[in-house]
Amino acid sequence: MSEKILEKIEALRAELHQHNYNYYVEDQPTISDFEFDQKIKELQDLEIAHPEFYDPNSPTLRVGGEITKNFPTVPHQFRMYSLDNSYDFDDLADWEKRIIKVIDEPVEFVAELKYDGASISIFYENGKLKQAVTRGDGFQGDEITANVKTISDIPLTLKGEFPVQFFMRGEIYLTRKNFDKINLRREEEELDLFMNPRNTASGSLKMQDSAEVRKRGLSAVLYQFISTEIPAKTHWELLTNAKKWGFKVSDQARLCTNLTEIQDFINYWDEARHDLPFEIDGIVLKVNSIKQQSQLGFTAKSPRWAMAYKFKAEKVETELLTVTYQVGRTGAITPVANLKPVLLAGTTVKRASLHNEDIIKKLELHEHDFVYVEKGGEIIPKIVGVNEEKRNPQNREIQYITHCPECGTTLVKIEDQAIHFCPNDLHCPPQVVGRMIHYVSRKALNIENLGAETIEQLYREKLVENPADFYTLTKEQILPLERLGEKSAQNIIDGIEKSKTIPFEKVLFGIGIKHVGETVAKKLAKNFESIEALKEATALELVQVEDIGGKIAESIVNFFQNPENILILERLKSYGVQLEKGKNSNKLLSTVLENKTFLFTGKLSLFTREEAEEMVEKNGGKNISAVSKNLNYLVVGEKAGSKLKKAQEIGTIEILDEQEFLNLLAK
Ligand code: AMP
Ligand code: ZN
Repeated sequence: MSEKILEKIEALRAELHQHNYNYYVEDQPTISDFEFDQKIKELQDLEIAHPEFYDPNSPTLRVGGEITKNFPTVPHQFRMYSLDNSYDFDDLADWEKRIIKVIDEPVEFVAELKYDGASISIFYENGKLKQAVTRGDGFQGDEITANVKTISDIPLTLKGEFPVQFFMRGEIYLTRKNFDKINLRREEEELDLFMNPRNTASGSLKMQDSAEVRKRGLSAVLYQFISTEIPAKTHWELLTNAKKWGFKVSDQARLCTNLTEIQDFINYWDEARHDLPFEIDGIVLKVNSIKQQSQLGFTAKSPRWAMAYKFKAEKVETELLTVTYQVGRTGAITPVANLKPVLLAGTTVKRASLHNEDIIKKLELHEHDFVYVEKGGEIIPKIVGVNEEKRNPQNREIQYITHCPECGTTLVKIEDQAIHFCPNDLHCPPQVVGRMIHYVSRKALNIENLGAETIEQLYREKLVENPADFYTLTKEQILPLERLGEKSAQNIIDGIEKSKTIPFEKVLFGIGIKHVGETVAKKLAKNFESIEALKEATALELVQVEDIGGKIAESIVNFFQNPENILILERLKSYGVQLEKGKNSNKLLSTVLENKTFLFTGKLSLFTREEAEEMVEKNGGKNISAVSKNLNYLVVGEKAGSKLKKAQEIGTIEILDEQEFLNLLAK
């Protein structure tokens, strides 16, 4: 008997260690938080019932995962505890009872939102941000000060009267809007999409380049003051003070004097959370009095004076109507479950992604099954299970398609990605249309007025099948298209004509060689004079180029082995599209800025930042992204801020206004 229990405990520990690793180190959880917490609870219960199997390394005693190597590891002066979780009001009532047993005076609580992001500890000294550290395993974390400083919500210097040294703890998170923005960009750049705002936020904090972190648009909220001496009687007062010093504290926190008020707060946010611009996964309750907090103290893993209340991921049951398959513009197949419409977390759900064949198999999905749909951290709802009791035994199991639903070609499965592809990239309709849409997009040939819808129409009318066909279009051909007036038709023709001046590197990106994104195209254009030169290059030569790996090289070689691609390129060239480096496009205009580094800051009025950076490059200079000793010139526009200050502090950097920069070029 007891052997069985030990086995069970050890299996759970091993499994939870793995989930911790997936979550904290890899940023790729494979189970929902709810499932994880359930398992932790199960283990906790077993450990309490069987103290003889105590293990100092049990996942129930540890807060997080291992430490990532890239950033220096620093110990936390005050341990970053985890929070105990509760899932229903009974749990909460028990917690309150335990508190009242210890404290024989009235107890007040502060109810706060439980932000779903990455926690951070920030050290302030003399009103200045000194150091920011991730939670790590609670005892030590990664020092990510430079990255945290890029987050606008976090004050770098404080106002008013504040203690000389203290820590502020808080959460760094991404708003839904910024998360969507990032994924939209990634979609444009053909990168894998991020799963959810929380993982994206914590992943962003560990990026090497703080300028990139900045671009992610992270937000922060601070919810805990920590120091050896606490300059207030209550947590509430500390929050109020922190706000005065310049910290962003939660607007939603409330003081509660009893359990009913706490329940009202929870019930309210369980609904209203869907309207927040960011995600929360629960509520945090804290005993307000600092004296009472210290009377209560800590358990091995969490404060006794605080408790998290976790919302259940909303789950509903509905009928699976059909499974359909979408073909993306890269040929990737996405199975989609079409559902009987059902209300979930405030929106009507009609579809859920099934991701890939493996997931369908794991669910053992049958036709017309009744399925459970959940909206967890992920944006698209997903099917998390099947109600087998309701299954009609006559219904067959879902069989994954073997042929492309658009063009009938036999699909290929890429094993290590578990994804099916349609290999017919030159003739499969969505892929063909997708390539043309990509060709005209802003970062490629930038043919304005030629939108996705028009391209689809042109394709349906058999007027275009590849980018080369654009150049033989006539106004008379496009005029009959729906909703196209004389003027728009002319604009399209003009736009196509104008695209002949777009430089080689953008054309190279536009023709859509698999894995050749914007940056790779630039690198290629730097190293190869013309499309001919690139065509002649062997895989071995290609991988010599910075940033070009084996996968990209192989894809380029394959591209040029296809005669249809060669024909399209020949035609593009004959119409005058730039398939080689222009006489002066990459040639230097001068070398007056040779060996000099530049950075632009503030609002520029004489030229855009992009233009400015191009001028630097064309005159032999180099753009860098941060103020450091390596910077020679800082060019400041209106309202220059911290960069200017920092440059002045360093002292060796020459500071120019826009006109002075132009004068420099004229030399
Ligand atoms: P857990 O990760 O489930 O143990 O929950 C603890 C974590 O909740 C903390 O480490 C914080 O990152 C996070 N958290 C979010 N909002 C709050 C809050 N208002 N007060 C304390 N912790 C919070
Ligand atoms: Zn196809």
